Amino acid sequence: MNQELVISELRAKAGEKKQGLINILDTKTQMPITIINGKNDGNTVLITAGVHGCEYPCIKTAIELAKEIDPQKVSGSIIIVHPVNTQGFIGRNAAIVPEDNKNILRVFPGDKNGTISEKIAYFITNELISKADFYFDIHGGDLHEDLVPHIYYPGMADSKVMEKSIKLAKHFNVEYFVKSNTTNGSYTSAAINKNIPSLLIERGSCGLCKDDDVKAYKKDMLNILSVLDILNYNKTDNDCTPKEIKEAKYLDSLSEGCWTCFVKAGESVKKGEKLGEITDYFGNVLDTYYADFDGVVLYNTVAFSVTKGSSLVAYGRI
Ligand SMILES: [Zn+2]
Repeated sequence: MNQELVISELRAKAGEKKQGLINILDTKTQMPITIINGKNDGNTVLITAGVHGCEYPCIKTAIELAKEIDPQKVSGSIIIVHPVNTQGFIGRNAAIVPEDNKNILRVFPGDKNGTISEKIAYFITNELISKADFYFDIHGGDLHEDLVPHIYYPGMADSKVMEKSIKLAKHFNVEYFVKSNTTNGSYTSAAINKNIPSLLIERGSCGLCKDDDVKAYKKDMLNILSVLDILNYNKTDNDCTPKEIKEAKYLDSLSEGCWTCFVKAGESVKKGEKLGEITDYFGNVLDTYYADFDGVVLYNTVAFSVTKGSSLVAYGRI
């Protein structure tokens, strides 16, 4: 028999599901959380959606999973946050939490005495990741971003944790899985500091919440819960097996101005190919960006305006 699962004031006995808005530490900021405690023993999986509040397909997927999963079909437990960044979601603020203007994905493992983004990261690390055996942080292209569905795995984690993460990534119906060298993202911090196999998944783009993206996301998440023997669900077949990308290049803007991108997410690029350019308000070219190697475009900014230092294009070597 599974033990009682307790997250803040939510308490679920074996075979129970509990949902509620939970206050982040001493703040008035709340996060919608669902805890599903299975009838039988097993591992605990954590799913966080909407760390970036305008990445809608992952948020809708998480809401539907939280509503529909029956605890009687669960062995172990499932913790779902839907979404993490409620202020960014309601305010339609791309990438950041409006209260402190920070990107939660850059402040892990967080700080209980910090700003709201740092407190959110601290809460996720110490209240949620600490109870998990596996962790999936689900994302998508933001308001200004297009992408090809892909996954990041924690490339800086202990080799066993990294290998377990890669094994899980191969069960997703996406085109690529990419080695990440960052250490302060939600899932990379969990993998490095807590030794928890973790992935960050990307699907959907440009502030759209298409049914097809939600369906595909949900299928992937139900499949992975089945693979982990947490959910009694008949795994469905995938159309593609993800290919590994060990090296990716992330281009950031050298100037603020008007951005024109010459490539699309999912397209192949050749070494030396012009990827895009930034002009001033008079159409004079300020910067031009070229591919350093043959590869595939993972994501790109589709917005015409860019600030200095913001993300433009990411492409990976296959
Ligand atoms: Zn994101």
